[in-house]
Amino acid sequence: MSQETKPDYLINPEGLRLDGRRPDEMRPVEMKVGVLKQADGSASIRQGKTYIIAAVYGPRELHPRHLTLNDRAYLRVAYRMTTFSVPDRKRPAPSRREREISMVIANALSPAIFLEEFPKAVIDVYVTVIQADGGTRCAATNAASLALADAGIPMRSLVPSIAVGKAEGKLLVDLGDQEDKYGGGDIPLAILPENEEIVLLQQDGSFTREEIVEAIKMGINSCKYLHELQKDALKMAYSKKAPADDEDYEDDLEHVPGEDFPEEDE
Ligand code: UDP
Repeated sequence: MSQETKPDYLINPEGLRLDGRRPDEMRPVEMKVGVLKQADGSASIRQGKTYIIAAVYGPRELHPRHLTLNDRAYLRVAYRMTTFSVPDRKRPAPSRREREISMVIANALSPAIFLEEFPKAVIDVYVTVIQADGGTRCAATNAASLALADAGIPMRSLVPSIAVGKAEGKLLVDLGDQEDKYGGGDIPLAILPENEEIVLLQQDGSFTREEIVEAIKMGINSCKYLHELQKDALKMAYSKKAPADDEDYEDDLEHVPGEDFPEEDE
């Protein structure tokens, strides 16, 4: 068993959080598209120390057949944590929490996808948490929507997602693990950025009406920022030039330490 102790405070006298962030500041986020060779679409996300990979397969034939939907594709999401993703070994069998989060992610993604274009088929989304440090359902939603886009699934938009929580009476964006465990609750949300339609909204802990309104505002702002990062990650994957045409790549080669490249003729 890991020996984690409760911190003395989650917000210091200067108003900063355990990792030095301001209340409305997100953790560093890095998203990559096309990280797996075998999947039809894939993406990874690092959000602070949370690290998740999403893989999409399909649209493809649905098994078992009794799950078939005649008017649209079945979006089947499997959110799983690896046994080593949390301080105490996670049991490999799917937990109630994993099943709940799978359903929540599917519900958040469905409104963004033209599922009606693929009746009777299944679109499988596998989300694997490699390292959990808070906010996994939201980070998983961010990565899954990128993986769907990478698979070429027709979508109305990407689906950015973030949790806003509370500790010591202050609203905090993008909770880390300890803020999640020892804080006063959190509100994960996801939106369709074009019209700010909320497609995921949960609440854990108690909030006043004013706090909920403010938390949703903060969450929508962060989602808009995440949406820009998602678009950048897609552009990065699809605008990559072949190494031979890439001047930066050739510059990099010339600067490999210890390598002796002949000078070009004047
Ligand atoms: N967590 C854990 N063990 C578990 C499940 C969760 O240590 O079996 C931690 C993990 O860091 C996770 C956090 O608790 O990110 C919060 O979990 P929650 O169910 O609130 O979902 P999340 O915030 O990850 O969406």
